This record gives sequence, C-alpha cells and structure tokens, in this order.
Amino acid sequence: TTKQLIMSEKLAAIGEITAGVAHEINNPIAVMQGNLEIIRDMMGSKADEAKTEFRLIDEQMHRVSEIVTRLLQFAKPQEYAGFTDQYDAAVVVTDTLPLVQHLLNKTTINVDTEYHASRLISMNRTELQQVLVNLLVNAIHAMSGGGRLTIRTFDRNEGRRRGVVIDVTDTGGGMTPDVMQRIFDPFFTTKRREGTGLGLSISQMLVTRQGGKISVESEPGKGTTFTVWLPAED
Ligand code: ADP
Repeated sequence: TTKQLIMSEKLAAIGEITAGVAHEINNPIAVMQGNLEIIRDMMGSKADEAKTEFRLIDEQMHRVSEIVTRLLQFAKPQEYAGFTDQYDAAVVVTDTLPLVQHLLNKTTINVDTEYHASRLISMNRTELQQVLVNLLVNAIHAMSGGGRLTIRTFDRNEGRRRGVVIDVTDTGGGMTPDVMQRIFDPFFTTKRREGTGLGLSISQMLVTRQGGKISVESEPGKGTTFTVWLPAED
C-alpha cells in the first residue's frame, strides 16, 4: 500500500541519516578515549586519586558509543541481516533480559517467564533480540509505578505454517484505541523527548520481513500484550 511505501522510504532515510551521525559521534569519542588514557599516564601515581572519575568518564563514553551502535543497528537493520539462525525462543529471551536489567533495577517490576515452545525459530538472532529489547523497554516504561512483566513462548500454527509465539505482557497503563492505531508508524511516540517512535515500526519491519507478524492487545489502565509470531521448524 501507499502508506507502507511511505513508511519504508521514511525508514530508509532515517537509516542513511543515522549512519552518518553515528560515524560523526564515534570518531570524537575515540579521540576523547585516547586522550583520557594519555592524561592518566601523564598523571602517574596521582591518577590513583582520580580513579573514580576516570572510571566514570570511561564508562560514560562507552555508553555513548554503545547507544550509537544500537541506534545504527536499529536504523540500518539490513546491514545486520543476511543470515537466518535457528534457535530456541527461550534462549533468546534469557539472552535479552540482561540487556534491560539496568531499567528493571530502577523499578519494582516482577518478571515471569514461561517457556513452552519446542520448535526452533528461524530468524536472524540479533534482529529478534532488537525486537525483544524494544518490547521489553516499552513494557518497562509503561510500568513506571511497578507491575508484572510476563514473557511466554509457545508453539502455534498460523493456518498451515508452523511457528512460535513470543508474548510480552505488562500490567502498565495500556493504550487507547487511537494510540494503538498509530504505534507502528515511524516517529509516532507518546513519550516526548525520551521517545524516538522508531522501536515498533522497525520491529514490525524486521518481523514481517522474516514472514512473521506482530500484533497487540491493550486495555487502558490494565495493560498490554505484544505477540510476536515467527515461522519455525520442529
Ligand atoms: P517509543 O518507545 O520511542 O515511543 P515505539 O515505536 O517503541 O517508540 O512505541 C510507540 C508508542 O507506542 C509509545 O510511545 C507508546 O505510546 C506506545 N506503546 C508501546 N508499547 C507500549 C506498552 N507496552 N504500553 C503502553 N504503550 C505502549
């Protein structure tokens, strides 16, 4: 459809811009990291007094370049695609949860996992991990006041196609129907400055490109479930 065409053009444009910006950011960071090392050497034994500060600066610079790298993966997923792995849904979930642990630590969210899937997913693993990070981060954002995060995997057929479902359920604020209608649009966000509005549009693109689909059910005040269905093998 025209709408999908406009969206994929928009995403391609974002990819180009982000790739350029990422490069422009990573270079100065590398220079800063190098110079930090030089200063530390020049300070000799005095550097010990500023140990904490050195560590903090170093950590923060790492963080910035990690954000840039992730942004690049989000914006230009086609560069990371290419091959499809075959793996267990539970493994990818347990690999992904640590990536959002720092966000979970700031909240009172209980995490439940239920692994029932026995088939193997066919999808690029890094890309599926990106999709899950998006869903988990959104769920955590929706439960700033605490709640329950449930991740479930199970086998399910779509018509005659064999597949696996990964469900992410939160007990957060939920969405009104008019918000729900727009969540997969590039740049649609209700998070103002913290949001890019890209997480779900890119997730949808990654999943549908693999022949899967992503759907959502939500009730304002109750919570939301995102359902990712992916083709699978026995
Ligand atoms: P962003 O998170 O940067 O806003 P997304 O594309 O990931 O971009 O999400 C778009 C919008 O969808 C969010 O701003 C939010 O309004 C809504 N949304 C996504 N996930 C949830 C959720 N689990 N609960 C409530 N609202 C959600």
